[in-house]
Amino acid sequence: MVQSSLLEPIAPRKRVSVLLPLPFPAPLDYAVPEVLAGHLSPGDVVAVPLGGRRETGVVWEPTPLPADLAFPVAPEVAASRLRPIRERLDLPPLSRELRRFIDWVAAYTLAPPGMVLAMCLRSHLRSIQGSAPTAGWVRQGDLPAGLRLTPARKAVLEALSTGAEPLTTTELAEKANVGASVVRGLADAGVLRSVVIPPPPPFALPDPLHRLPVLEGAQAIAASELRGRVQERAFSVTLLEGVTGSGKTEIYLEAVAECVQMGRQALVLLPEISLSAQWMDRFTRRFGVRPAVWHSEIGQKARRLTWAACEDGTAKVVVGARSALFLPFSDLGLVIVDEEHEGTFKQEDGVTYNARDMAIVRARLAGSPVILASATPSLETLNNVETGRYRHLVLAARHGGASMPDTRVIDMRETPPPRGLFLSPVLVDGIKARLERGEQAMLFLNRRGYAPLTLCRTCGHRMECPHCTSWLVEHRRKHVLACHYCEHVEPVPQACPSCGETDSLTAIGPGIERITEEARSEFPNARILVMASDTISGPSATAEAVEKISRREVDLIIGTQIVAKGWHFPHLTLVGVVDADLGLGGADLRAGERTMQLLHQVAGRAGRAEAPGEVLLQSFSPLHPVMQALVSGDFAAFMTEEAEQRRPGFWPPFGRLAALIVSSEHADAADRAARDLGAAAPHGEGVEVLGPVPAPLAVLRGRHRRRLLLRTHRNIAVQPILRRWLAQMPLTSSVRVDVDVDPVSF
Ligand code: ADP
Ligand code: ZN
Repeated sequence: MVQSSLLEPIAPRKRVSVLLPLPFPAPLDYAVPEVLAGHLSPGDVVAVPLGGRRETGVVWEPTPLPADLAFPVAPEVAASRLRPIRERLDLPPLSRELRRFIDWVAAYTLAPPGMVLAMCLRSHLRSIQGSAPTAGWVRQGDLPAGLRLTPARKAVLEALSTGAEPLTTTELAEKANVGASVVRGLADAGVLRSVVIPPPPPFALPDPLHRLPVLEGAQAIAASELRGRVQERAFSVTLLEGVTGSGKTEIYLEAVAECVQMGRQALVLLPEISLSAQWMDRFTRRFGVRPAVWHSEIGQKARRLTWAACEDGTAKVVVGARSALFLPFSDLGLVIVDEEHEGTFKQEDGVTYNARDMAIVRARLAGSPVILASATPSLETLNNVETGRYRHLVLAARHGGASMPDTRVIDMRETPPPRGLFLSPVLVDGIKARLERGEQAMLFLNRRGYAPLTLCRTCGHRMECPHCTSWLVEHRRKHVLACHYCEHVEPVPQACPSCGETDSLTAIGPGIERITEEARSEFPNARILVMASDTISGPSATAEAVEKISRREVDLIIGTQIVAKGWHFPHLTLVGVVDADLGLGGADLRAGERTMQLLHQVAGRAGRAEAPGEVLLQSFSPLHPVMQALVSGDFAAFMTEEAEQRRPGFWPPFGRLAALIVSSEHADAADRAARDLGAAAPHGEGVEVLGPVPAPLAVLRGRHRRRLLLRTHRNIAVQPILRRWLAQMPLTSSVRVDVDVDPVSF
């Protein structure tokens, strides 16, 4: 607190703005009471009254934003009507850099700034309640006369030998294998003394020289370029492009080493699922210690420690999922976004933001370099390279002379599977050959459950979700039909609900449960591991599965997209893609790019230096440009072609895009609101509105959804246009408008 007052003195004021973690359009003004006059600085955490409640917020001041993004200013409330701030809380203030970032994200995404703050503070504020120091026990005296040395008491005293580290009641009871009352009894008798357990030591310092890699050729050049960027202490963006296995991770860890050597902090963003033990081990081998980690699975205590260690600078390297962007780094010297093309960097609910793009904003505000790493960079990033905004480093070959997997398409029209099955004989034979040689194989299908559609053979009825425009997916192990867009689950009916015919409901198409059933009968002796988000959830379960594969306790892996991430499976030599065409249907202009990126990543699991890999793609359209690109490996040509298709229509990255989703529980209310919005649509040179049309999921969780797309030329920002447009929309309680700037599908 003292520190912030020194850095940012503000004259004693009668009123200050306070941003509350609530969906208001702007911060609220409060009066500064006499006792706090001259003691409040921007960033201070304060308690304020709101209605009859007490809320926690942050003293805010406007931070400079580009004109395009600036907020509307709320009309000033008369001083007489202001309520006073209750107190300033004893918490570290939010830095100016973080506050600017919050304003930026809110302004860019059009989310209420309080909701961005809420996302950021989720762990910070909770630490108020949880920050009491833990008490532990140490041995103080001997058993007083009159207290018998029972086996239970003896066990406690043995567990806590004199001079040992203090243990909490729970720890001690657990170690001695006794009830907590035994511990408390000994404490009451004066045998144990309570002491404060100091917080665990801060994150250990990574040693940049712990194990230096041997780098040659393109790797050495790339690493020294990136070290140079870090030394510059200035904002820059570099795309590190290289096929899977070319050493991108190895190289960007050298940039991290440089940053640590300079005593500054580095942030590495990974798609959540890649935050694996494998990556941590890799880091530990290079630096001798584990990095600080930030993702949805870490506990409250770790959250609190990590937050504090980012703030006081003791956490030098943080590896995390997208929310790690909102950590209060005190001296951020480098930001890395691995797998930058990943769609999962986009948060779709709450504040709709793309962590890749906001990482660049965060780094710009901190004045530090960004590294984007990918084997298949997004068209947005490639375009930024082309126009000179980003630098470009390329690793063209796999490390150690390993060859890229040999990719072939199985034409499903020529060699179809037997009736009712889904694996072509070509693929079955390929897997058999690998299994016989003691190698591992993988089947990839990006669809959970048994079958994506249940159809009545008699009347043609399709089992659909009552709340969404979607088919129910059969999950045979659980004997249910489930919607993959909401929580709806129902038992598989005995008879068709439409015509009443029994035994006429049929499973259509494969999910991975069905593929597993087929694989079990084709390869009865293979040890099969199924990896999908509903059988394996969270980083630790994923890590366990990956370990099993590495230890060769598995012959055949069957999985959805969680198998696609950057794992190294040294014994895996064949990857079979069950339905390579999946994802290419529909009208989404980005479908081709996304399918190519996903399948290339899946393919990258096959083959390492010792054993060349093979990839077989089952497709009904072997001449599709995506299949051709996967076979030839010429992604640059594919992306150039994609670019040429988007350029004339000003589709991203050649124009800007924002989606408005109008939704209501009543279809006609949604229609009316969407038509009204359409009628008030902005127009002008380089500005165009498409729609309204039914949104890709026309009904979702019982809400009817319509979509309007705002498309502008690249030099026109969408935010001010959206603000003016939405201001004309009458507020009704039954209709909601969600804004999605830079939607991932279009
Ligand atoms: P990418 O991130 O591009 O997929 P990695 O950095 O994971 O590539 O490298 C692939 C494999 O090759 C890893 O097992 C890595 O340890 C190894 N590797 C890459 N470069 C080197 C190097 N210079 N020395 C030793 N091993 C390397
Ligand atoms: Zn549903």
